[in-house]
Amino acid sequence: MTTLSTRDRRVLWHPYTQEKTAPPPLGVKGGKGVWLELEDGRKILDGISSWWVNIHGHTNPFLNEALIQQAEKLEHVMFAGFTHEPAVELAEKLVGILPAGLDRVFYSDNGSTAVEVAMKMAYQYWQNLGENRSTFVALAHAYHGDTFGAMSASDSSAFTKPFRSLLFDVLRADPPTVPDDGLSQQFFCDTGLEAVLERNHRNIAAVIIEPMLQGAGGMQIWHSSYLEHVRELCDKYNILLIADEVLTGFGRTGKMFACEWADISPDIICLSKALTAGYLPLGVTAATNAVYFAFLSNDRAKTFFHGHSYTANPLACAVASASLDLFEREHCLGRVATINAKINHYLLPLLKLERVEDVRIIGGVGAVELKTQNDGYLSDIGPYLYKEFLSRDLLLRPLGNVIYFMPPYVITDAEMDWALGHIADVVTGLC
Ligand code: PLP
Repeated sequence: MTTLSTRDRRVLWHPYTQEKTAPPPLGVKGGKGVWLELEDGRKILDGISSWWVNIHGHTNPFLNEALIQQAEKLEHVMFAGFTHEPAVELAEKLVGILPAGLDRVFYSDNGSTAVEVAMKMAYQYWQNLGENRSTFVALAHAYHGDTFGAMSASDSSAFTKPFRSLLFDVLRADPPTVPDDGLSQQFFCDTGLEAVLERNHRNIAAVIIEPMLQGAGGMQIWHSSYLEHVRELCDKYNILLIADEVLTGFGRTGKMFACEWADISPDIICLSKALTAGYLPLGVTAATNAVYFAFLSNDRAKTFFHGHSYTANPLACAVASASLDLFEREHCLGRVATINAKINHYLLPLLKLERVEDVRIIGGVGAVELKTQNDGYLSDIGPYLYKEFLSRDLLLRPLGNVIYFMPPYVITDAEMDWALGHIADVVTGLC
């Protein structure tokens, strides 16, 4: 019988994959909890929650049921001029748990579009108020997605290089990468943000950040006081603050939203990934009423002209809503604390190894940065480690020389011992 993998090779083109040199894709025939079952019967542990989306495990019965029930009522309706129960219910729930003041929910389709919407919203906000502000500020190591606005906000990398001449200029500042160890409350240094804002504030529409944890840029973790500092600067210079919580939202850093680490509210927040727990694509850009009111006018030109065919898809909204119920019911933040303790136990001792540059841990994320000749995403060690972990039935996808573990919250203690034990073993073997 022809395998899935062989049939795939004839007709498909995969994301972030050099099709000439990459091994054939693995055919997956099912998933249960943290395990994926391959077409040859092998089971592998999903140690990165399938690109950070799957928090309640694969084929979760509660979420399956929510999806089936919604499919029998309404699969989709356009969202201009119409509304429906799943969209309203999800927005009500989100407004109830988001940082204070984020009272308006705008739906889109994924993390990149959530960011794209946020940037367009911020840009037009100032125009509607009669001010032309033509630039944004973003941070070094930032990754905000693959559409053009999101790529412009992202730091230059292998991902954005081919498109550089098409990207718009964004002012950039260095974030300090000093993690919050709970001891040094005020430990940060402003590595340039204030100077950038002071010089350009009349022209800046918004500052965009990944609060506490910069993911694809190498799992860089900040101290929470820097987050507080960014909010204070945005207030001081009257600039909107966009928090891209596409990765950090829904418990990943140990708080429901990473902004809670500094008890701040951004003016706009971007959500996706764990929003639907890996079931369906959905993006949310939530804004304050102050932003929303700037679009209300008798002048129709001040409308926010953005939308997608699948905006607020009822199936996606229903499963996202069910995921929030499950979050409460399963005490997910407590699970993340347990994951954090396990990660600390296994990964911190690796710091003493010669080959290890750094170990960074926050909430349900643990990262080990290796010393290599060529750093960055294209470091040769990434594909080697990916293969090595897969040969041990563990799915990890290192970001170049940065190995990270970010499992679904349903992972058991025994499964963590097993997976983290393999990580420690592989890293020790490199030294
Ligand atoms: N923003 C952040 C912080 C992300 O980590 C990502 C994806 O990794 C995105 C935006 C883009 O999300 P998506 O891949 O759903 O377009």
